[in-house]
Amino acid sequence: MQSLAAVAEVIGPANVLSAPEDVAPYAVDWRNAYRGTPVAVLRPGTTQEVAATMRWCAEAGLTVVPAGGRTGLAGAAVPAANGPPAVVLSLERLNRIRAIDARDFSIVAEAGCVVQTVQQAAAEAGRLFPIQWGAQGTAQIGGMLSTNAGGIRTLRWGNARELVLGLEVVLPDGRVLDDLRRVRKDNSGYALRHLFIGGEGTLGVITAAAMRLQPAVKRVETAFVAVPSPDAALSLFSRVMESGAEVIAFELCARYCMAIAAKNGVGLRIPLPLESPWYVMLELAAAHESVPLRAIMEDTLAAAIEAGEVDDAAIAESEAQRQMIWKIREDYPECSRMEGPSINTDTAVPVSAVPEFLRQVEREVGARWPEGLISAIGHAGDGNIHVSLHAPAGMDRPSWVARAGGMEPLVNAIAVSLGGSFSAEHGIGQSKRHAMATHKNPVAMDLMRAVKAALDPENRMNPGKVLP
Ligand SMILES: Cc1cc2nc3c(=O)[nH]c(=O)nc-3n(C[C@H](O)[C@H](O)[C@H](O)COP(=O)(O)OP(=O)(O)OC[C@H]3O[C@@H](n4cnc5c(N)ncnc54)[C@H](O)[C@@H]3O)c2cc1C
Repeated sequence: MQSLAAVAEVIGPANVLSAPEDVAPYAVDWRNAYRGTPVAVLRPGTTQEVAATMRWCAEAGLTVVPAGGRTGLAGAAVPAANGPPAVVLSLERLNRIRAIDARDFSIVAEAGCVVQTVQQAAAEAGRLFPIQWGAQGTAQIGGMLSTNAGGIRTLRWGNARELVLGLEVVLPDGRVLDDLRRVRKDNSGYALRHLFIGGEGTLGVITAAAMRLQPAVKRVETAFVAVPSPDAALSLFSRVMESGAEVIAFELCARYCMAIAAKNGVGLRIPLPLESPWYVMLELAAAHESVPLRAIMEDTLAAAIEAGEVDDAAIAESEAQRQMIWKIREDYPECSRMEGPSINTDTAVPVSAVPEFLRQVEREVGARWPEGLISAIGHAGDGNIHVSLHAPAGMDRPSWVARAGGMEPLVNAIAVSLGGSFSAEHGIGQSKRHAMATHKNPVAMDLMRAVKAALDPENRMNPGKVLP
């Protein structure tokens, strides 16, 4: 292998980390489920430095694992445990906002920009960058795009993919694909950017993106609602979608999730007593002050109570109360992690199938692992429900995986049988390659392998991820 000194000359010695204590944070994933042993962590600061680093890696015979904020939940940003020698290529120093144009409703941001920084830049320009989820203070634009992240507002503005106008990408051989265009309409051949969005770093390194912005939200109303069942939540969903307001979030949470949040969250206050089996977090918005959003929310909830879809509701009376509702939702993954080991899914079904999905999950998972505790929480407005099976108190992760590891394939199969997906928003990474092998259409797999071979013939980009 070539010496690291050569790459240090290009990106600076301070940006070549090889001491075990410096490399350690990049060697484990957020859930502490996957560990790898990177040869080094390289932190180029410009697109040209990324390109030079990729050429150096090719000459050194090293594979490359791109890393953003390392909040991914599929083990995709750490080298595979028994994989070929790998460097982690961290984009954290590519963190400039290159352009923002309010008239164009667009922003051009480098891959290492933290998502929240982009949200703030958009807000300062009187615009909205609509992606929002619990890890937005750490996750980066490159990671967000490479996982095609969703979140609580996908219902209204789509996944990360829907926001992208153009990309700048460094290919495995060091060539730069400069497609950083802000034009809205461009049918000049294949839309290559879509290969890299959701590509989980297996095809190239995203270095910058041109993305859409939206008009700023001028009015917002948020409610925390107790519902008797997922069927009732589904009826409520149709009702709010027909209310005349923009529905920008519709989250469904089982009582057990709220109990975990109340127990482990710091400073979390659940707005209603924990007496209902299910809760909905719902947000309406308008881009103009004159929209009577409060009246719409009150009328809609009153009609839902009358129809038996809602048992109780708390409408946020202040921005602080609104933020508390979203803090409960956004802090939940951390509260769940604190609860101990769990087996988790990232399943989605058509919105109308959510109640049936939950019925089958409860019946089949409950029957096979009665000692576990089932929780379900998710972006119900997208049909995306994360199911978890929590270990009994005191059990460690390896023991629980050995005993209940079959829960994920079971729940995936239920979702797929209802016309759904085993990978709604977190990606495949290492954790869902087995599900790809089981559920993905064989022709789609052939095409994916052909794309991979065309762009990365030496299999140097993030090996051991996505493709089984
Ligand atoms: C508390 C919490 C809540 C979450 N909630 C949601 C949610 O609601 N919705 C959702 O969709 N996700 C959610 N996630 C998952 C995670 O935040 C997202 O997948 C996020 O998009 C990952 O971004 P990152 O910068 O951390 O990427 P990383 O974890 O660093 O990387 C993820 C993947 O992208 C690749 N990658 C990173 N940067 C680049 C680049 N510049 N070029 C090419 N490849 C790259 C990596 O190799 C890896 O394959 C949550 C995670 C946590 C911890």
